[in-house]
Amino acid sequence: MQAEIIAVGAELLTPYRQDTNSLFLTDRLNRMGIEVTRKTIVGDDRKQIAGTFAEALRRAELVISIGGLGPTEDDQTREAAAEALGRRLRRDEAVLREIQERFRRYGRAMAPVNERQALVPEGAEPLPNPNGTAPGLWIEADGRLLVLLPGPPRELMPMFLGQVEPRLRERAGDRRLLTRELRTTGLPEADVEQLIAPIYTRYEGVQTTLLAAPGEVQIHLRAWTRQPEQAARTLDELVERITLALGRHVFTTQGEALEEVVARLLNAHHATLALAESITGGLIAQRLTSIPGSSSYLVGGIVCYSNEVKTAWVGVPGELIRQKGAVSAEVALALAQQIRERSGAALGLGITGIAGPGGGTAEKPVGTVFVALSDGRRALERSAHFPGDRERIRWQASQLALDLIRRYFQFPAGQH
Ligand code: ATP
Ligand code: MG
Repeated sequence: MQAEIIAVGAELLTPYRQDTNSLFLTDRLNRMGIEVTRKTIVGDDRKQIAGTFAEALRRAELVISIGGLGPTEDDQTREAAAEALGRRLRRDEAVLREIQERFRRYGRAMAPVNERQALVPEGAEPLPNPNGTAPGLWIEADGRLLVLLPGPPRELMPMFLGQVEPRLRERAGDRRLLTRELRTTGLPEADVEQLIAPIYTRYEGVQTTLLAAPGEVQIHLRAWTRQPEQAARTLDELVERITLALGRHVFTTQGEALEEVVARLLNAHHATLALAESITGGLIAQRLTSIPGSSSYLVGGIVCYSNEVKTAWVGVPGELIRQKGAVSAEVALALAQQIRERSGAALGLGITGIAGPGGGTAEKPVGTVFVALSDGRRALERSAHFPGDRERIRWQASQLALDLIRRYFQFPAGQH
């Protein structure tokens, strides 16, 4: 089954509000095997809404609209649906009683405009709304289905889950969506594309999308199918071949964030970690502590921004900083070794760099980052020169650091 979603509301055509409800609906529909083939945003104009409904119903078996079911003059969705289907509106006494009852329960007087919410197109079935006054509507029309849902997410979500989803599931058919998600770091999007395009373009039944985020390229694989087992084998084979082509740059085939992967590895190895963060200002600690259970591996960290604190709190020799500069491989290594010793953690990580916009030199331009990881016996070191503004540079620096920890565990023999 294919569906279209129509979000109604003038505010959704301004820079101030986004249609987030359709993301929720798309996720739920996909899980049932219903593909969303088009989304439309339309203002509060009845003629335009009606036209959009009529067009969508010509294309798709299922059309779901969001919003415009309220009592005010700009809420035109009911009227538009009636117009698009060529049906009259009638007053539904049961709906009216429910709305009146709701006002009584809250001890408020019902404004006459609220009576509008009891108007339903002929043949429509109201969907009760326990979280608001506007009922949803379920309308069957010539083998097509039009479902009108209220706009506020806390009304729409329970109504969809409780009343729409169970009924849709019965007629959704046996098509299924299977997905896989790989994530890589350390390679630009164009390189990823070049390495894997010759592979994935040969899989016609799989829709492959590359999504670039700072310090990360995600590879999304989607397959619509009636043979889920066969499609799962195909997807797994493609995942394997892509992983082979990208090698150590792939940090997950399960769609995890890099910090989740690192947390899992630290836990699995019963290893503890301490951080000495200059350029990232605590970002690495923040990302790791966002994972539940982080206290079992993260002992702590120091934000060591000034040279004095690098020396006094972490123990980097002042002489080293004067000789090599605070942004240097040597200072990153000293930060890693010293924070490890002072904290008693198994691993120490040090990171330093220039986030900009000021402070760059010809030798060490803005975006220069040095990171080191020490376990007391050996140390891994990395440096990079990242493009972008301050935020992007700091984020990419945190990716580089987390990836160094990942590689320490996943490739202990070297060649990181
Ligand atoms: P109400 O009875 O509250 O008027 P309604 O069905 O008429 O409900 P709208 O007036 O269109 O819905 O929207 C009410 C609120 O719901 C909006 O102010 C907005 O915050 C939220 N909303 C509407 N549409 C969306 C959407 N597509 N995505 C996210 N939020 C939405
Ligand atoms: Mg409204």
